[in-house]
Amino acid sequence: MKVWFIGAGPGDPELMTRKAWRQLSQADVVLHDALMDVAGMQEAAPHARWLEVGKRSGRPSVEQAFICRTLVALAKQGLTVVRLKGGDPAIFGRLAEELQACRSENIEIEMIPGVTAACAAAADLQTSLTLRGESRSVAFVTPRLGKHETGQPNEWLTAAISAQTVVLYMASAQAKDICHALIMAGKPKQTPICIVENASRAGQRFKSTLFEVAQNALPTFEGPVTLLVGQALFLAQAEALPLTNLLAESSNTSTAKHAVA
Ligand code: SAH
Repeated sequence: MKVWFIGAGPGDPELMTRKAWRQLSQADVVLHDALMDVAGMQEAAPHARWLEVGKRSGRPSVEQAFICRTLVALAKQGLTVVRLKGGDPAIFGRLAEELQACRSENIEIEMIPGVTAACAAAADLQTSLTLRGESRSVAFVTPRLGKHETGQPNEWLTAAISAQTVVLYMASAQAKDICHALIMAGKPKQTPICIVENASRAGQRFKSTLFEVAQNALPTFEGPVTLLVGQALFLAQAEALPLTNLLAESSNTSTAKHAVA
């Protein structure tokens, strides 16, 4: 009885490790997240059963408890089970619950890391997340609090302010409020921010400043989005954020919300 927790990387199947690819090829059943280029990865295990157990913000999702139960049930049938997670399984992946479910049933576990969105986004932007003299620290942060999660709504801000480079996951819908909050908490207004959609695949990549994003509605995005903030991003290669919304927004400032809940 064994469950393999495998990082699928940010989307491009070529960014999966060799080890991940090899282990996939031995799977009987693969439980995978939503928003993956499953077609490309299925090549590794064409005969396995592929089940989507994705959780997507604001859309129908599979309950975490169901995923845990299914992993355990499949492993107990003696199948080789792969739990394929986007990016790296250890970063904002609800991994702990699934590990715990397996351990409590004495199911053996093995993990294979993957390329997290932060690193894939940096590669797309052809930039470094650290920078001699400017950034010795990188924080992976999310402002999102899960359904039953307790915690201070602004905990993320403490971490974001302490680090010189901040990568924000699950944050694009709140980008404007986030940038405002970062400025209010002391980040310089002109700090570069990059917005990367669908890292490692086709998507939008923008570069701007905290000040500009704090005043703009972002374009809409289809794919997952990561925000990267910090002086180290000054080298990033990306389009300037279109500022067409500035005028419309400025006539509407009285209704602007600034606190990130
Ligand atoms: N375990 C994943 C993160 C899961 S949380 C990892 O290590 O990357 C989901 C969030 O990750 C998304 O809301 C988005 O912020 C980010 N993300 C995942 N894949 C992405 C991609 N290809 N491009 C940009 N952001 C991505």
